Amino acid sequence: MSDEMDAFVAEAREFLEANATRRDVPSTEVEWGRGEDRITYFGDDPPEVDARKVAAAREWQRRRYDAGFGWITGPPQYGGRGLPNVADLVYDALEAEYDVPDTSVLSLIGLGMIGPTILAHGQEPVKDRYLPAMYRGEVIACQLFSEPAAGSDLASLETTAVRDGDEWVITGQKVWTSIAHHAQIGMALCRTAPDKPKHKGITAFIVDMSAPGVDVRPLRQMSGGAEFNEVFLDEVRVPDDHRLGEVDGGWRVALTTLMNERASVGGEGAGPAARAVSPPFLTAVLKAHGRLGDAAARRRLAELAADQIATEYLNLQAVRRLRAGAQPGPEASVSKLMYAQNLTRGAHFAAEIAGPRLIADTGEWGTFSWNELLLSTPALRILGGTEEIMKNILAERVLGLPKEPGIDSTTPFRELRRSGQGRAGGKA
Ligand SMILES: Cc1cc2nc3c(=O)[nH]c(=O)nc-3n(C[C@H](O)[C@H](O)[C@H](O)COP(=O)(O)OP(=O)(O)OC[C@H]3O[C@@H](n4cnc5c(N)ncnc54)[C@H](O)[C@@H]3O)c2cc1C
Repeated sequence: MSDEMDAFVAEAREFLEANATRRDVPSTEVEWGRGEDRITYFGDDPPEVDARKVAAAREWQRRRYDAGFGWITGPPQYGGRGLPNVADLVYDALEAEYDVPDTSVLSLIGLGMIGPTILAHGQEPVKDRYLPAMYRGEVIACQLFSEPAAGSDLASLETTAVRDGDEWVITGQKVWTSIAHHAQIGMALCRTAPDKPKHKGITAFIVDMSAPGVDVRPLRQMSGGAEFNEVFLDEVRVPDDHRLGEVDGGWRVALTTLMNERASVGGEGAGPAARAVSPPFLTAVLKAHGRLGDAAARRRLAELAADQIATEYLNLQAVRRLRAGAQPGPEASVSKLMYAQNLTRGAHFAAEIAGPRLIADTGEWGTFSWNELLLSTPALRILGGTEEIMKNILAERVLGLPKEPGIDSTTPFRELRRSGQGRAGGKA
């Protein structure tokens, strides 16, 4: 290790020792029956608990940032530290030894997807104003992409933005907007040229979520929580310097976000859900239910473990590319596909082993607690691009199979809508 990296490690260790508590059970080990057994993915906390967790995430991000660990690889002119990506990996590994607040409300969408998009396509005022504030935990960002009639076929979106001098006026409805109720800004895709083909008439904007005309309404999901929302935009005014990329060039901007989204979701290797479906934890489940000798169950667990290891290597490759400044490629879509499948298989495996103990909360450790994750797994197949769309990307971009027939790459969007077409193709 170089002297510079030695100094970085010592500095990070000093910061963590002074600001966090070291875990008594390392994150990679399992002690069955000890500690909280809740396995959350989306969470179903009451609003006051949710608010406390968001405040803790912000406070931890602020401390990290002020100490120089909040945006380790970011450009110094926007508040980053400008270190190579290896420093980021080293810091993550060190931090995993400590109990620190979960910062996914900031990192998954804002810092994982919108931050890199602003950096790549934003105008200077937006970069100056939002990047340091986002990485310091002050500004949470949400993704205003999906609409009632535009999900997989995102380019069919209908929210409009009409120019009015130095401003744009945005009107429409977004849906499934995760964490919009916590967000200060949103990245919105809007139709700016209905007379152009659907991918060529979209523009991207950063919207102030407290602006007049923005109405956020929560949606409750079956796992119990209400972490996503409908967002209504009624003549919301956005300055032109909040536009990302060129006018009508929003599809390119969206692709930056979507590729980072897949990398962000697929690379989500930590947290209670990932730990719960890890081979040591699932082995502990087998042991606790007297099934260690069950050859069929052991074989399934071994197959899952092999797929998890393969996904981990794929992620590492994707993270290295990302942190070296490259755009994520189709491997990020494969990671996302695999991550969702592994988590789903792990949750179903545990549910099968726990059997009827899963049904009622008898207080028995590690049984009823699987429900929250189980009920979240269908959403994992959908968010960040559905399983079918990820398979299409894998087929076309990795395996080189023929593309799906595209019916609408040249027809003006307005005509597509009139003829009721435009629902083919799929994200990316
Ligand atoms: C938990 C969660 C959080 C989310 N958060 C956000 C967010 O923060 N911001 C945001 O903008 N969106 C968000 N979404 C929305 C998500 O991106 C969309 O739900 C997703 O892209 C699918 O779109 P859709 O729901 O309209 O389904 P549709 O696109 O209507 O798909 C319906 C079904 O048809 C299949 N299908 C569609 N097209 C094809 C095709 N070409 N080939 C094969 N099969 C196809 C799909 O796979 C799916 O099974 C979230 C969704 C979930 C579940």
